[in-house]
This record gives sequence, structure tokens and C-alpha cells, in this order.
Amino acid sequence: MNPATELLHHARGEGYGMYINGKYSSPASGQTIPSLNPCNDEPWYTLTDAGAPDVDQAVGAARHALGHPSWSGITQTARGALLRRLGDLIAVHSDRLAEIETRDNGKLIREMRAQMTSLPQTYYYYAGMADKMTGETIPVNKRDVFNFTLREPIGVVGIIVPWNSPLYLLSSALAPCLAVGNTVVAKPAENTSASTLEFADLIAQAGFPPGVFNVITGRGETAGHALAGHPGVDKIAFTGGTDTGRRVAANAARNLVPCALELGGKSPNVVFEDADPERAANGIVAGVFAAGGQTCIAGSRCFLQETIYDQVLAKLADKADRIILGDPMDEDTQLGPLSLKSQLGKVREYVAIGLGDGGTLRTGGKQPGHPSLANGYYFEPTIFTGIRNDMRIAREEIFGPVVAVMPFSGERDLIEKANDSIYGLAAGIWTRDIDRALRFARNVDAGTVWINTYRSASFLSPFGGFKQSGYGKHNGYEGVREYSRLKNVVVDYSGSTQDPFVMKLE
Ligand code: NDP
Repeated sequence: MNPATELLHHARGEGYGMYINGKYSSPASGQTIPSLNPCNDEPWYTLTDAGAPDVDQAVGAARHALGHPSWSGITQTARGALLRRLGDLIAVHSDRLAEIETRDNGKLIREMRAQMTSLPQTYYYYAGMADKMTGETIPVNKRDVFNFTLREPIGVVGIIVPWNSPLYLLSSALAPCLAVGNTVVAKPAENTSASTLEFADLIAQAGFPPGVFNVITGRGETAGHALAGHPGVDKIAFTGGTDTGRRVAANAARNLVPCALELGGKSPNVVFEDADPERAANGIVAGVFAAGGQTCIAGSRCFLQETIYDQVLAKLADKADRIILGDPMDEDTQLGPLSLKSQLGKVREYVAIGLGDGGTLRTGGKQPGHPSLANGYYFEPTIFTGIRNDMRIAREEIFGPVVAVMPFSGERDLIEKANDSIYGLAAGIWTRDIDRALRFARNVDAGTVWINTYRSASFLSPFGGFKQSGYGKHNGYEGVREYSRLKNVVVDYSGSTQDPFVMKLE
């Protein structure tokens, strides 16, 4: 295992500065906060606790860069070339970035490495897109009128990111933003800022002009709040909890600034009696125990058809009991610690709530007893039975390795239960009946539906939730739509003079 200091490419002395206008800088306030390693609860670097003046500076740098000829004056093909170079640099540094993220958030090195090695593809995709965004001509009902659309950058975009997948989530907004020609101020989570600060250096190496990408660090309630409410920001991309998203959107709305909100979920993962039980049980594990359940798409409500309930539950419990907990840097580990101490407290609290409401623990429900894990934020894979869909444990997002298993009788019963949630992010179904699978896909309230798979993502396919899981889409061409604005231009080349008091409706 590398010592933490070897990973810190840009930490100066005790810790990191912010990244504003192409330089690492100190905070106006001089305040710093520690970032803790979730494996041992020890600080491994400090970062800047930005205040409103720092945010002001970063937004000012982004505004200046937006109109500067070094950015606004280059061709879209040249923007694409910068993105391609950035993708190449990420590929070179993917191992280092993965290690930093694992140390920061405790997720498996295998998982973070997979995210980092696929990340260049996102930048290559949007690099290719940069000079292929076209408007359209609209044949209106009048001769001698030329009517067309232009796709333009929105301006300065504030991107606020949570701790679970820092660079992956940043990039789903950043790559299309840059392809279109926006400038960006990013605010990573206060516990997982190192990879974003290291990434800023790759942006500079790729040749992006100063001010196009800026990073402010610090607390959500101060730095994040100042960014979301800043009058110099034109759009906010927010990924995080639903309650925080509500606050961010209300704050941005004071300036009528639009948001793309990727929020929480309580996604159903459903097994019908005709499914392959082994594959389905594996899919439930992938849905809720992989990444310690700390993903917005966690399949934390598992519905098993009554006829196969006992059989699949037994398989699931057996798989859960055999999951290897340990150091996330170890290649054999299957479940690392939770990312934050507060997250550990939240998971424990929900287990108590589940038991208090009458649920039964089939397995797990506590921190593991092994002394080597005693100081980390570890929690056993946990399966609850005896849960009704109206209990808190089935309604509220836990963001941990806890699944509520519930029976259902048939399709109608299932779809009512699956949709009985404030969330609508993702859903999974395991069945060999294609008609049933497609009926489920049509009827379920979820932005993404997986059939005989779960937690499968692509930079090519649109992602974003319904209901209180947020609004807006990332990935694929939808990312370009999300981070551009559409202008309509009307040209009258008739040479005639119109009645000035009558609106022209053509
Ligand atoms: P939070 O909502 O607490 O934080 C997310 C980000 O917002 C952090 O950078 C945080 O800063 C910042 N923030 C906090 N308060 C404010 C505020 N008032 N104004 C502006 N920014 C603020 O989420 P968590 O960190 O707890 O992340 C987990 C949540 O994220 C889960 O609910 C999960 O479902 C959701 N999520 C959604 C995804 C999706 O794509 N739909 C993907 C991944 C996660 P700080 O770190 O300082 O608190």
C-alpha cells in the first residue's frame, strides 16, 4: 500500500489549496479542514475551507474565461482536441486517481480503478461531440423567411458533487460542459476533494486556458451554498441527497438559475418465479452490497415473488454471509468501510428503526467483530425481512449495505408496491418472460430500468431520475442538451415592409 503522502501530488506542506484561474491558491480566510481515512478514522490531508469571497473569486475567474478569446475564440474542433488530450492524461494517471479516491471514500480499489479506466471514454465521447452539435433549419409557413436554431454554451456552470464517486460524477457534467464551451466551478464533497484537485492539474496539462475549470473546496453549507446562490452562475449541476437538492434548487431559484438534480433513490429490484435464482441473487448483491450500498441506484427494496421467496432469500443470505469485508486497497476485499463516520451512524440508526418497526434481521445488522476492522467504519451486509412497504426502512434512503426484502404475489401487486415511493431513479427485474419484463419497464416510475442485470452504466445512455430523485439527464447526447442553450434566429429576406402593429405569425 502506498503511503498517503506519495499520492498527494499537489498537497503543499500540510494540505491542498483550491484551484482557481489555473493556480492552486490559499483560502481568503486561511481556514482548513481535515479529510479522514475511513479505514482508520485518521486525517490524511487537509483542505481549504472556502468562504463566500473564495467562491466569488472562482466564479469571477470562470466568467472572465468564458469571454476570453483563448476559450470563446477557439473552434469547437480545438475544444474537442483538448478534451481528447484530457482523456489521454486521465488514462495515464488512472491508477493514481483510483488510489486517491479509495483512500478518501473507502470504496474498493477494484471499483475505483474500473471507474477511472473507463473515464477517458467519457471525455473521448464528448471530444467527438464538440464539433458535431448542430442546430436545425425550420421551414416556417412563409416564403422568404429563414428560421434556424443555434446551440450555445450556457455560461458558468457550478458542479456540486458528493463523496461516493467524485470524478465519475463530476465528469458526467463536466465533459459535456466543456464540449459545449461553458466554464466551470466545481465543489467536491468536503471528505473527498483530493482527486478533483489532482484532476485540475491534468486539465492544465491538457491545455485548457486558466479559469475554464476551477475548484473550490470546503463545506456544503458555506462553499456549496455560496456557489449555488451566486448571481454569476448560469446553471447548477448538483448530485447528492434529495433534501440538499431541494435546498440547492431553492437557493439557485433566487437568481432563476436552472439546475440539473441527480438525487437519491430507493430502487426496487424484483425477482419473478421464472428467473434464474442464482443470477437473480447475484444481481441483488450487486445492487445493494456492492459499493457498500453507497450508490444512488442501490436496489435497496428487493421484491421476491411469494412462490420463490424462501429459495431466493436463502441464496441471498448465503451470499451476504460470504462477502469478504476488509481493506478496500486489497484486491480480494468485496466490502470496504462506509465512507464517513456519520454514514456509519446513519446505517446503525436505520437498523434500530427497522427492528423497532417490527422488522426481522435475517443477517448482519452490526459492525463486524474482527479486531482489524475495529477502527474503520465497517458494517456487515444486512438483510431485513418482515418489512412492509410503508415502514421507514422501505421508504427512506439509507445509503448503506442494507436491503429490505418483501414478498409480492403478481404483476399488479408488484407494480403498485414498486411505484409506492417518493423516488424514481432506477429499477431492476429478473425474469425470463420478455413480455412481463417490458410491461414492467413501461409501468415502473424509474429513469433507468435494468432487465436481468443491475448497476450497469454507460456514458452513452441517458441517466437521471423521476419524482424526488431529481430532474435533468446526463450522459450521451442528453448531456449536450442539458449543458447548452438553444437560440432561435429568424431572418426575413423578403425585402417587404410589414404592418408594425400586427404580430407576424408564420
Ligand atoms: P449531500 O447532499 O449531503 O452532499 C452532496 C454535495 O452537496 C456535497 O459536495 C456537499 O458538501 C454539498 N452540499 C451540502 N449542503 C449543501 C448546500 N446547502 N448547498 C450546496 N451544496 C451543499 O449528499 P451526500 O454527500 O450525503 O451524498 C449522498 C447522497 O447523494 C445520497 O442521498 C445519494 O442518493 C445521492 N447521490 C445521487 C446520485 C445520482 O446520480 N442521483 C449519485 C450519487 C449520490 P459537503 O461534502 O461539505 O457536505
